[in-house]
Amino acid sequence: MSLEITAVGGFNEIGRQSTAIKIDEQVFIIDLGLHLDHYIRYNEDCAEDLQKKSVSGLRKAGAIPDWSSIRDWKKNVSGIILTHAHLDHIGAVPYLAHLFDCPIYGTPFTIALLKQILLDNNMDLPNELVSFRGSLDVGAVKVEFIRSTHSTLDTAMVALHTRHGIVVIDNDYKLDNNPTLGLPPDVARLKELQGKVICHIGECLYAPAPAKTPSEQVARQLLEEVLLETNTANRAVFVSAFSSNVARLYSIMHLGQAMGRKVVFLGRSMAKYLLAAQETGLIDIPESVLILKYGSEANSFFKKNKDLSGFLVVCTGHMGEPKAALSKLLDGQYPFKFKQDDIVVLSSKIIPVPHIIANRKDLLRRMHQRRLRVFDEVHVSGHASKEDIRFLLETLSPLHVIPNHGVSHMTHAFIDLAREMAIEPSNIHDLREGDRVTLIK
Ligand SMILES: [Zn+2]
Repeated sequence: MSLEITAVGGFNEIGRQSTAIKIDEQVFIIDLGLHLDHYIRYNEDCAEDLQKKSVSGLRKAGAIPDWSSIRDWKKNVSGIILTHAHLDHIGAVPYLAHLFDCPIYGTPFTIALLKQILLDNNMDLPNELVSFRGSLDVGAVKVEFIRSTHSTLDTAMVALHTRHGIVVIDNDYKLDNNPTLGLPPDVARLKELQGKVICHIGECLYAPAPAKTPSEQVARQLLEEVLLETNTANRAVFVSAFSSNVARLYSIMHLGQAMGRKVVFLGRSMAKYLLAAQETGLIDIPESVLILKYGSEANSFFKKNKDLSGFLVVCTGHMGEPKAALSKLLDGQYPFKFKQDDIVVLSSKIIPVPHIIANRKDLLRRMHQRRLRVFDEVHVSGHASKEDIRFLLETLSPLHVIPNHGVSHMTHAFIDLAREMAIEPSNIHDLREGDRVTLIK
């Protein structure tokens, strides 16, 4: 009879999310993510593509979770459960999952995306990949995916129904009651769990922000204003966004069509996310839309189309990653030359860490040098702000809480809120990587 939680990665840091939960004799690992800042620095490549790398190199670079803190639990691992398809949650799966003799569970889109990554990089895993929505019994524990919303599709909050109570993990989420694609969060189900939740592990990234995170509808509206109300005649128009934000890409695709332009998605990671979404029936991409997955396809497209005024090109690179499409375009690595007043829309906000801030600054400098017209931060976040977190804590009324997915000032903002909401101070656990907390002995 025991319930213990180990902070494997992503506690008091942003990235390489991983939490291990031991329920009696069974262990579940929730997420195995990459630390994107460390990964980009190690790889100096596109943040949204995975490549074959040595595990020891990645570990030394701090790019993957240090699983040594659960070495003693290794034989008890019953499942690796993935909350959603972002690389800071699933990106270490191809490197670490084989160490654990268990299936990998996720929603259909998350598993489809993982398969795309493995296929694209010639990687293989011995673990069974199991996709489901709703719930599934794994040994004595019922694993439930509760529908949530975030900046990628098919995101779930995970509820582990144990004999000790329910453990709810919700990194990452926002409470978007009017999503542009898919359904709103299943708040009715969350309410049913009220009072039965022994522990809630929740993201604190924007806990300091006294706000409710706006709906993705707002981002669509912002994009609509920029793309449909700007005079783009005779100009090349590029939009750069996270390839994982499929709802955003889908909005951009429809707006491109409304502009009377042919839409082109550029790059491997764009292709992977779009194809996984199409394969799982979440979007429908018309044949007129071009998806140029490989450099050779992009090269022949740009050679054939010197005038891009009839196209809307969607690409990665908004964070200034040196090897991503936008940087390559600026550096002349494709047979394409920007002209003065060509338009670049950055539909994102960067992860605010020093290396990425420096890359982005350099990207803006290079675009300014070429006298491009730049629309920056045409974006809303996919993460919960303080008032979303308050709503979730009120709804679940957990006995214990553990903040994660944030550095110390974010963690402290979450803790202050939990205290304000009368959660017993001794039941608020501020964990660091490698820490273990015993809730039931
Ligand atoms: Zn995420």
